Amino acid sequence: MSKVVFGPITSRRFGQSLGIDLSPDTKQCNFDCIYCELKGAKPVDTIQNPPSVKEVITSVKEALKKHKDIDVITLTANGEPTLYPYMEELVQELHAIKNNSKLLILSNGATVTCKEVRDVLKEIDIVKLSLDCVSEKCFKKIDRPIKGLHVEDIIEGIKEFRKIYDKELVLEVLVVEGINDKESEFEALRDVLKEIKPDRIDISTVDRPPAYDVKSVSISRLKELASILSSLPISLAYKRDYSEEKRDFTKDEILNMIDKRPQSFEDVNISFSKTSIDHIDRLVEDGILYVKDVAGVKFYKLS
Ligand code: SF4
Repeated sequence: MSKVVFGPITSRRFGQSLGIDLSPDTKQCNFDCIYCELKGAKPVDTIQNPPSVKEVITSVKEALKKHKDIDVITLTANGEPTLYPYMEELVQELHAIKNNSKLLILSNGATVTCKEVRDVLKEIDIVKLSLDCVSEKCFKKIDRPIKGLHVEDIIEGIKEFRKIYDKELVLEVLVVEGINDKESEFEALRDVLKEIKPDRIDISTVDRPPAYDVKSVSISRLKELASILSSLPISLAYKRDYSEEKRDFTKDEILNMIDKRPQSFEDVNISFSKTSIDHIDRLVEDGILYVKDVAGVKFYKLS
């Protein structure tokens, strides 16, 4: 069995995902994040012994024959997929065989400083990049990058990329207790995100056992931090067993809330009472609200 292709797995945010691991034998990444689920490893700037394009394509073709209804084919790695040396050719060949699936890449974003990488990424249907914080001190502490990488350059690279990319750009912020969970970090992040204008921002915290001794923050703290990002489209990663008190909102309160920030289906199902959800359904029927699908996550927005 191929080590390069795995799944499909059900991704809460992207649907049925067929994964491609471009570094199947060992972790090869230009970061060594303190929250990484893989064992800590010295950062590198290339993937050594990569699988060939032919090997990847043959494995994907076999998997697509076996598994129908794949929503996304996900380029990932035990590490950073954009360090794969034949990415341009691979992306072209995947487009030729992917049928109705979308092509998704999960990257830490560090290589978007490079024009060649931006030009390849712009051919991918959904690009998800990490941006955990925007100050150099915090970036170095949380992402532990290879020497010579600076968060300011990465931010400029993402801004340049947004100028040429009109498909779905998702940014991910992973929050670690005591590192990037301060209001001041989130205020600085908000200003940068407003300039970048991603289609969606995924906010999560440490979920599985990480490489280093770090702690998650509570969902209520994640919500407080998310509220600093004001009107941006945010998808919070709730823990599976998370629940909270269901609240009643009037139609006006709902409209006011959605005017400030689009609410995801998941936000609504977790915290809205049955009556409030009925109001939302009516507002959608009346055309006052509409539903927008952003890379697999549905949001209510004002028409
Ligand atoms: S970018 Fe991803 S793979 Fe690389 S160290 Fe960070 S979490 Fe691990």
